[in-house]
Amino acid sequence: MRDAVQLIQNARRVFAASHIDHDGDAVGSLLGFAHILRQLGKTVTVALADPVSWRFEHLPGAEKIHAVKPSPDDDLLVSLDASEFNRLGAVLTPNDLAGRPLLMIDHHITNSRFGTVNVLDPTAASTCEILYSLAQALDVPLDPTIATCLLTGVVTDTLGFRTTSTTPRSLEVAQALMHAGANLSEICQRAFNSDTYARLCLTADVLHRMTLDEGVLWSQVTLDDLRRLGVPYAESAGLVGYLNSVREARVAVIFRENEDGRIDVSMRSKPGISLASVALALGGGGHPQAAGATLPPPMNAARERVLAELHKLLAGTTVSA
Ligand code: 5GP
Ligand code: MN
Repeated sequence: MRDAVQLIQNARRVFAASHIDHDGDAVGSLLGFAHILRQLGKTVTVALADPVSWRFEHLPGAEKIHAVKPSPDDDLLVSLDASEFNRLGAVLTPNDLAGRPLLMIDHHITNSRFGTVNVLDPTAASTCEILYSLAQALDVPLDPTIATCLLTGVVTDTLGFRTTSTTPRSLEVAQALMHAGANLSEICQRAFNSDTYARLCLTADVLHRMTLDEGVLWSQVTLDDLRRLGVPYAESAGLVGYLNSVREARVAVIFRENEDGRIDVSMRSKPGISLASVALALGGGGHPQAAGATLPPPMNAARERVLAELHKLLAGTTVSA
């Protein structure tokens, strides 16, 4: 953390980015970080490869997020909530580094420590939880703007403080963020009780075609489904949680056909079953209970490969129900 503070203090113009297929922790950490640095008088550009989802567009500063690359004047590059460099997508590629320092801030256990300086804390339930400590280390007082962005990541990555990754620290941070002016119920409402009609139709299809196969409950989404129902690809994430709620499922998986033809794999597991080794074997990453990978097409081959890995994992794991 000390090296990170020094890098930030020495910077004038900062370029910050978060991961493709963004979630609440990606957007919350990106915006929270930018607001913290602006308190220090820094100029900050915020970038995401994809347009901001309607779910997060109300967050303060979300309108300033664009799919832009760093300018030659930026003297510090920052990666937030990404376990691998290539998860930043098109906004930051190796050619963009140009000898500049890259500050990497993340909480994924599979993180490859790709930064010049790495702030990696796999015990943190969200990247936003780490940024709370960073704000303290930088002596930046929390205001309602910073607190709202950070609490969004804290709440969404813990699914409302329900995941095994949630610790007393997550709750302490949330408490401090509420004291600083963040509205917990409003954040929960937008994150968990808000959907579009088209997306609920997609959910119905995904549930209709789910298959339980020896402890693995899986389903899939094709580009045809998305076109037929009018759901943008970016809105098709987050369905795997429904499958994982099933008692008989030890692992839940959703295969999604991406716009570039590749297959996005979203996996969830019950406590006691770690997906980290399977995710790494598939060239992906994530957390013990929530991991993913991106595989080449076709869908059937990707699915067979993942299901084989998961059955191998389950054959070697005993879990008390
Ligand atoms: P989700 O299923 O919500 O898309 O992702 C669950 C977790 O797995 C997240 O922490 C995410 O960062 C990670 N993840 C998902 N897809 C990939 C991938 O293709 N590569 C890597 N490295 N991590 C992924
Ligand atoms: Mn995260």
